[in-house]
Amino acid sequence: MNPLLSKAESGGYLTRADLVELLALPKDDPDFQALLDIADRVRERTMGDGVYLRGIIEFSNICRVDCHYCGIRRSNKTLQRYRMPVDVIVDTAKRAEGLGYGSVVLQSGEGDALPPDELAEAVRRIKAETGLAVTLSVGERTKEEYAYWKQAGADRYLLRHETSDPELFARLRPGRTLAQRLQCLQWLRETGYQVGSGFMVGLPGQSLASLAGDIDLLRELHVEMAGIGPFIPGPETPLAGEAGGTVEMALKCVALTRICIPDAHLPATTALGSIHPMGRQLALNAGANIIMPNVTPASYRENYQLYPNKICLLEEPEHCAPCVAGLIASQGRYVATGQGHSPRVG
Ligand code: SAH
Repeated sequence: MNPLLSKAESGGYLTRADLVELLALPKDDPDFQALLDIADRVRERTMGDGVYLRGIIEFSNICRVDCHYCGIRRSNKTLQRYRMPVDVIVDTAKRAEGLGYGSVVLQSGEGDALPPDELAEAVRRIKAETGLAVTLSVGERTKEEYAYWKQAGADRYLLRHETSDPELFARLRPGRTLAQRLQCLQWLRETGYQVGSGFMVGLPGQSLASLAGDIDLLRELHVEMAGIGPFIPGPETPLAGEAGGTVEMALKCVALTRICIPDAHLPATTALGSIHPMGRQLALNAGANIIMPNVTPASYRENYQLYPNKICLLEEPEHCAPCVAGLIASQGRYVATGQGHSPRVG
């Protein structure tokens, strides 16, 4: 057995070089499964067997950025751009609550997706009319906007750093820099949000050292949540011809993140479920403890395809709920109730 595994098991500090070595484990090496099993035990000890559900509401696909990886990038002209009215967002949140979910994530493109006042109004109403925790995921904004939405009642914010490699970042997000994204994460921290970040696995030009840097950055940011999923190349993007990330590499990244940040909430991502029929189940057994079922009304979904073959494209929220509950039970786990704040919040 690789001696780094005993270090991981006993809670020892994994250096970047250690992370690279573990990320290099081939999937047919018994140590590969041993690594995922260690993460599973850390998850069980720290977070228990409950799996929290966060209903994701993709309230607008309007975006000012032209990210090379993303299906709703500005220059994709094949999409019908939409913006859900505040009433529809609030009603959708209520539907999510009716399905037993304890929190919702309001996600959109970056920029003019919804005027800041309207987003604040949606947050205020959801907080007043439901018992849900609210997470925002609307990209890079000003510190004032972050503070404004926090005051409106938002609890958490998801802003994946996407890649910790500054050159790769600048290449994939034209006109934007990693430093700006990290500044936003800092502002979110200062404003008092529970902060989520994360990255894509298998981006073109991404090395193992770069992935180790991603995990190390999450540890440094001491995130409350981290979304980690495979990159999936999309037809209407400049990366259409590239290879995507693999299930195995994504699982190793989830497992190592669990080992490095034992008390973070880690979703079994939709992207993992989209490249492998058992992707989310495998992640639940490799450190993940969250699922984010899509609650966007079906009529909007086809215009929010961040990547192709996204699962559940034609489903209404009511169809996803029993399916996700079954998935969780099939892994010997249970659906956790309540808002599911970070254990650090108490
Ligand atoms: N505009 C918001 C939300 C982005 S969409 C923001 O900038 O934060 C949510 C996440 O989907 C992104 O952070 C990215 O990591 C992921 N994503 C986008 N395109 C993808 C692709 N082709 N494959 C896998 N994940 C992708």
